[in-house]
Amino acid sequence: MMRSMAFVRASAIIFSLILVAIAAGIWWWRAPEAGGFREVRIDPAFHRLTAAEVATLPLAVRFDAPLGSHHGALTYNARAFRIKNHLGDDLNGIGGENSDLGDPVRAAAAGRVVYVGSPGAGWGKMLILAHRLPAGDEAGPVVQTMYAHLDEIRVKLGQLVKRGETVATVGTADGAYLAHLHFEVRQGPYINPAEGYADTPLNRLSPQDFIQRRRGALATVLNQPP
Ligand SMILES: [Zn+2]
Repeated sequence: MMRSMAFVRASAIIFSLILVAIAAGIWWWRAPEAGGFREVRIDPAFHRLTAAEVATLPLAVRFDAPLGSHHGALTYNARAFRIKNHLGDDLNGIGGENSDLGDPVRAAAAGRVVYVGSPGAGWGKMLILAHRLPAGDEAGPVVQTMYAHLDEIRVKLGQLVKRGETVATVGTADGAYLAHLHFEVRQGPYINPAEGYADTPLNRLSPQDFIQRRRGALATVLNQPP
């Protein structure tokens, strides 16, 4: 009798330890990174923002130009959307050549960093922010702004950013080009950093049109800083 009680007690302890180990394993596996956003460990080409990740993105009620002033003064677009299969805008400082090297690149709107990396030759360092659009926006519910050829990236994966916050600096894609910012607006939840030139617009929107319609003022009006 004594022996079987000891056996039951020992079994109960072992069973409890197994349960604790399983719970700890599940917690470790599920525990999100800082900011509640789990780092993407799979090939980002196949990553899709989950419904929960989209729902917790900051609401982007207004968009501003990512270079120069809030409405893009002091910059020019050297190669606009869809000229020769180009799916973004090439933004430059008005000084030309490398005069804009190291200039601040600003978050076009409130959002979250969903990609930081160097996806392949010709891109250099790239940053992607995801933004939740207000209900009723025809481009919604989620868009991504993509910034490439960067010199320095100043934010981390998963970080929340405010509109106008400096997130990076203008670069040359490691010497591949004269300094400029390659800027794209992408529709939908699929993060596919390296998918580039194409003869169809893929999921891209014209960055200039997109921002002009969502900057909350006429093109001639200087917006207040955030
Ligand atoms: Zn470009």
